[in-house]
Amino acid sequence: MTPFISVVVPFYNEAANLPLLYHELDRHTRRLPYRFELLFVDDGSSDDSAVIVRKQAHADRRVRLIRLARNFGKEAAMTAGLHAARGDAAIIIDADLQMPPRLIGQFIQRWRQGAEVVVGVFKRRNMSRLHRWGSHLFYRIMHVIGYTEITPHATDYRLLDREVVDAFGRLTERSRITRGLIDWLGFRRAYVYFEQQPRHAGRPTYNFKKLFGLAINTFTSFSMVPLTLAGYLGLAILLFSLPLGGFLAVERYGLSDPLHWGINGTTMLAVLILCLVGLVLACLGLMSLYIAHIHEEVTNRPLYVIRQGEDHGSAVPREVEAIAREVTAS
Ligand code: UDP
Ligand code: MG
Repeated sequence: MTPFISVVVPFYNEAANLPLLYHELDRHTRRLPYRFELLFVDDGSSDDSAVIVRKQAHADRRVRLIRLARNFGKEAAMTAGLHAARGDAAIIIDADLQMPPRLIGQFIQRWRQGAEVVVGVFKRRNMSRLHRWGSHLFYRIMHVIGYTEITPHATDYRLLDREVVDAFGRLTERSRITRGLIDWLGFRRAYVYFEQQPRHAGRPTYNFKKLFGLAINTFTSFSMVPLTLAGYLGLAILLFSLPLGGFLAVERYGLSDPLHWGINGTTMLAVLILCLVGLVLACLGLMSLYIAHIHEEVTNRPLYVIRQGEDHGSAVPREVEAIAREVTAS
């Protein structure tokens, strides 16, 4: 039976890009021997984007439109799309044509060969030097402190097998980084490399502030290191200042300064303050360990993710098949 594939497009004010995107998606999906649904998720656009998609939906039964009540951000829009996707696999793609739709065939091919997550990775990125530098720094830090291995320059252009989509659907955390969560889930992965195209029209909505927020969010979602930083600093200060204080005290008061260092009250006071600062920071670190536990409980990620079946891509679950028939018939 022909596999059924959902293409999920989150968009926010992309009226200038959507006609061409649809044209490209249409062109490249029609050539492929699979059935598709084109799932457009309107992330609270204030321009004509939704009107355009609705028009396309009238002309093409494969097109579906989901509208969020306001701008919730791309992460939420992608999640909404994945929740609504009915295919045996779902492909996420940006609306601005920076991710070439012609690669969809390659993604599906990797999936048919057995990959459960196919990740699009930038070969080269068209971005400013500052952006490039920031991105490099981000991945370095993440590599050192993260507990989930995040592939550098991996994009949101991804194909997820039904199983992964379902597992993703069970994640309940609120402030989320879709990419990171998919990486956290695991499963068999394959990569498709591509060159980032320039944005077709409009300006990227991810400015420096948003990107910085995204980076911080990733650090705090997939690493506990920032939380324990204060504690380690405090421990280091304590370990340094305690022996130093002890040594100075013995030298000055016990042995009457045989080294002639002239240690006075101010020196002792300085060391004492250093000790206390270390103590306070160490206590903060201790508290943060408890906060880390709370954080873990609150994000409420499943303890483990089970792999359901081994065969996929070849067989279509019956209920999906039924829905697909209904979609094409309606
Ligand atoms: N997007 C979205 N909601 C937002 C911001 C962006 O759905 O609040 C969509 C946007 O329309 C595009 C994709 O997310 O399809 C990537 O956005 P953008 O090109 O601005 O980001 P970048 O390419 O710089 O990552
Ligand atoms: Mg873009």
